Amino acid sequence: MKCRRCGKQAEVELRSHHAAFCRDCFFIFFRRQVERAIKRWRMFKPQDRILVAISGGKDSLSLWDILLNMGYKATGLYIDLKIDGFSEKAKEKVEKFAQERKSDLIIVDLEKEGIPIPKIIHYSGKEPCSICGQIKRYYFNRMAYEKNFHVLATGHNLDDETTRLLANLLRWQMTYLIDQAPVLPPTYRFVKKVKPLYRLGEYEIAAYAFLKNIDYFAYRCPFSKGATFLKYKEYIAYIEYKFPGTKLDFYEGFLKKLRPLLQPLQRQSANTFHLCPECGYPTLAPQCSICRLKAEMKK
Ligand code: SF4
Ligand code: ZN
Repeated sequence: MKCRRCGKQAEVELRSHHAAFCRDCFFIFFRRQVERAIKRWRMFKPQDRILVAISGGKDSLSLWDILLNMGYKATGLYIDLKIDGFSEKAKEKVEKFAQERKSDLIIVDLEKEGIPIPKIIHYSGKEPCSICGQIKRYYFNRMAYEKNFHVLATGHNLDDETTRLLANLLRWQMTYLIDQAPVLPPTYRFVKKVKPLYRLGEYEIAAYAFLKNIDYFAYRCPFSKGATFLKYKEYIAYIEYKFPGTKLDFYEGFLKKLRPLLQPLQRQSANTFHLCPECGYPTLAPQCSICRLKAEMKK
C-alpha cells in the first residue's frame, strides 16, 4: 500500500479517511487534525498557559507530546489516585515523560488529600468511575484556576466523544448533552476546557504513540471492569469497523446540527453556581461534593 501524500510505502492505514500514510506523512496528518481542532474551536493562543490532564495513557501523553512539539506552553497535571498496582506505575511513566522533555508537571496526591480512590469506593459504596471522575474533575478545575492557567486540555478522543454522545442520547441526558463539545467556555471559576484530540480515534492515537516511541502506561484500571461506558465503546468500534467514517460523521453532525440548539441552555445553567465555604469551589449545594466527601471520610 502506498502513502496518499508522497507515494512511499505506507505504514498506517486509516480506513475512516480512506487513506494510508508513511510515517512522516502520518505525523503531518495527525498534527493537521489537532491544528484544525484548535483553530476551528479557538481553543487557545500561542501565548496561553495550558494545563494538560495526564493519566499516563496513550491519549494524554500523545496530547502533551504534540502540544509541546507545536511550541505550546503545556504543563502536565497528574492526579495520583492511589490505586494499588496501577497509579504508581502510571506515575513513573508520567514523571519519566516530563523529565525527558524537561516539562513542568504538577502532581496531586489523593492520599494526602484524604480521599484515595480505593478507600472512597469502599466506604461510599458509590459507582467507582462516577466518584473517581467527580474527584478528578474537581482537581483539574481547581488546579487550573488556582495556578492561573488559561485553559485545561484533556486527551478525550473521537471514540470517547462518540461513546459519550451515544450514551447521552440513549438516555436523553439533556444536562450532559448541553455540556458536550470540544470546548467548554470559562464560566464563574471554571476555566475553559478543550479537547484537541477530538477528531482522532483510538487507533490513530495508538499509532502516533507507537511511532513516536511514547512510553505510555497501557493497562486498564482495575475498577473499569464491567463499566457500561466500555461496552458502548465496543459497540461504536463495531459500527466503525462495519462502516468506516461513521464515528466522525456522527460527532461532527451533532456539533453542527444539535449543539447550536442546546447552547442557550448552557448559558442559563452557569448562572446558578455559588462558592463552597470550605474550599471556594463552585457548587450548586451548600457545600461542594468533595468537601462533603472529605468530611465523611474523616468521620
Ligand atoms: Fe477512575 Fe474509573 Fe478511570 Fe479507574 S476507570 S481511573 S475508577 S474513572
Ligand atoms: Zn469544597
